[in-house]
Amino acid sequence: MTVVFSIEAPYRGEYQLHRISFGSGSPSVAIVAGLHGYELTGLHAVNMLAKALQVSRPHGTVHLLPLVNTFGADEGRKRWPFDDQDINQAFPGDPSGTAVQRIAHALLAATDAEICVDVHSGAPYVRELPHVRVPLGGQEVEYGRKMGLPVVWRRPGDRLEATGLVGAWRQAGRMAMAVEGGRGSTLDTDHSATIARGLGALLGSLGILATGSGPGVLADVTHNEVETHRADFGGFFVPQVAVGQRVQTGHLLGYLESPIGGDRLGEIRAGRPGIVMTLRVYPMVHARELLLRIAGTPT
Ligand SMILES: [Zn+2]
Repeated sequence: MTVVFSIEAPYRGEYQLHRISFGSGSPSVAIVAGLHGYELTGLHAVNMLAKALQVSRPHGTVHLLPLVNTFGADEGRKRWPFDDQDINQAFPGDPSGTAVQRIAHALLAATDAEICVDVHSGAPYVRELPHVRVPLGGQEVEYGRKMGLPVVWRRPGDRLEATGLVGAWRQAGRMAMAVEGGRGSTLDTDHSATIARGLGALLGSLGILATGSGPGVLADVTHNEVETHRADFGGFFVPQVAVGQRVQTGHLLGYLESPIGGDRLGEIRAGRPGIVMTLRVYPMVHARELLLRIAGTPT
């Protein structure tokens, strides 16, 4: 383990950015987690992968940066706790800027890997089925598919804004993609294992590791094929499905009830066949807030 960057913190030990590296030469992959402090399912996935890498002989290089926002993780927060800034909005960073700008700059400088995978979780109020977010075309789509995560989500301009790690990485002419799975503030060990398998499958497809295939793609969708359900009005959301569940058109996805007394206010049904990709787990909901996403599958 190498400390690739550190800064003084005002009242506790210094901040340290850690990198664990395996192997040498090309191809090279950087796997980053914990840019958002409370998204720890990815941290666990990266640590699972580290254990596999310790007992293998990689043909190429793997850099793991399992926890960027250490202080945020300590406090169960998404952002950098001192000034509430989002490190994933601070790219490409500035070596003489604010703390988050300096960390972003150091993270980009920490590795010259050809491919970057940035691992996130959903917000604390939703659970995400592990999926990879890639642009509409290009080689990242192929690499994303090779991970074999349950959903491949091809999105127009996804994270192309250079203030995020994926965008800044691409801006530098290198490949990058985002993986999202589980729920903020919560450890989903099954989702961690799924993500770890997907990351291993990517390394396998590049010839770095002799690992098997990923968990298996259930849905491969563009934004148009993702059905998003938001609450029409406030209430108490009672789901009738689980993340990863396959549903058909008309399937009852959940109810909105009155928080006091439980009167049924409305029901939410699938408009197409698919896989439950995103599910609200915090039941209190206001109008227009996210309830579910269905990743469409062919009829
Ligand atoms: Zn995140």
